[in-house]
Amino acid sequence: MTDQSPPVADFQLVTRAGDEAAQSTTYGIPLAVLAELTHRCPLQCPYCSNPLELEASSKEMTTAEWCKVMDELAEIGVLQIHFSGGEPTVRKDLTELVRHATEVGLYSNLITSAVMLSKARLQDLADAGLAHVQISVQGAEQGLADRVGGFKNGHAKKLEAARWTREVGLPLTINAVMHRQNLHQLPQIIDMAVELDAERLEVANVQYYGWALKNREALIPSFAQLEETNRIVAEAQDRLSGVLDIDYVIPDYYALRPKQCMGGWGRQFFNISPAGKVLPCHAAESITGMEFDSVRGNKSIRWIWDNSEAFNQYRGTGWMPEPCKSCEFKEVDFGGCRCQAFALTGSAGNTDPACAKSSLHAQLFMRAATEAAEEHDRFIYRNFSGGSVEGGEF
Ligand code: SF4
Ligand code: SF4
Repeated sequence: MTDQSPPVADFQLVTRAGDEAAQSTTYGIPLAVLAELTHRCPLQCPYCSNPLELEASSKEMTTAEWCKVMDELAEIGVLQIHFSGGEPTVRKDLTELVRHATEVGLYSNLITSAVMLSKARLQDLADAGLAHVQISVQGAEQGLADRVGGFKNGHAKKLEAARWTREVGLPLTINAVMHRQNLHQLPQIIDMAVELDAERLEVANVQYYGWALKNREALIPSFAQLEETNRIVAEAQDRLSGVLDIDYVIPDYYALRPKQCMGGWGRQFFNISPAGKVLPCHAAESITGMEFDSVRGNKSIRWIWDNSEAFNQYRGTGWMPEPCKSCEFKEVDFGGCRCQAFALTGSAGNTDPACAKSSLHAQLFMRAATEAAEEHDRFIYRNFSGGSVEGGEF
């Protein structure tokens, strides 16, 4: 996918009639679903939320399979589909998929790095019914942005595509994934989003699992940087009220309580991987040993959502160990992020160490501060060969 933060605020719960009383055990189908069409991508971002083991193109679902999935999504009450990846525009059938989404009544959003878009293609997508475009940026100026994305001239292409997006009349969100090496450009990124006539800017600090965990030393900000970021975002939110909506995701290594990741496991969100696996979170495949059902099997998406072992394993609060089990916030954050708990403790069933009540939290905070101070800036780029250490010029 092109960023680390699917617009989870958009993934609201749709409760089935009569289900209100049973909400602790039964969950309505989410309003929106993330469709990861491919893991192929010309960029190589060191924080990519795709799994370390990327899905080969030969395993990707066909046009017909995705159309069948969309028929089913529309039938069970999903209203929005977010086409993502990897880079969804590498799929030659993207316009056909958007047209099908429109035909079955799904609102469609394109989450893209934008480097492969032309104005003609954007026009075709708009004509097929695409409703919104989200473009990721890696910085505010070419040198740094191209280096982070590992793709020459990518930044200039993104700016051009963002302008075309508005020229063909589509609303635009800019997604900026922030870390130690680009946080100093945040004020310019905010100005850039205004200049590009975006309606929304997502300022998302890197979440450390998968590729980002591999690159944590090169990405983790200092506590002082975080405090400055909080100030810049708060000032801009105030100054640009009514001009630009700014969403902000703080890095949880420095937080006291973890985020309600994905609105809680299996509560408000699912995504479908390039090979058709139905996942409770876009990073869920980073949890090894867990089996996920596929739309290619003989089970319906509705059945998978309601009954699959992977969705039910960490749903609600019944699975929780202490300190979550007796915690007053357990219905607020649902114990934080399962992928982060797995990455940092070896078990997805543990309390997320981002929580100050976890015995590992102080250690995590210190490790983050130490790694930030060491300034090991070299990236391991995300690619199909398992990653390559930064070496060349951008
Ligand atoms: S490499 Fe970058 S642009 Fe490509 S899918 Fe990953 S985060 Fe998105
Ligand atoms: S102990 Fe668990 S439920 Fe309580 S705040 Fe921490 S992560 Fe959330």
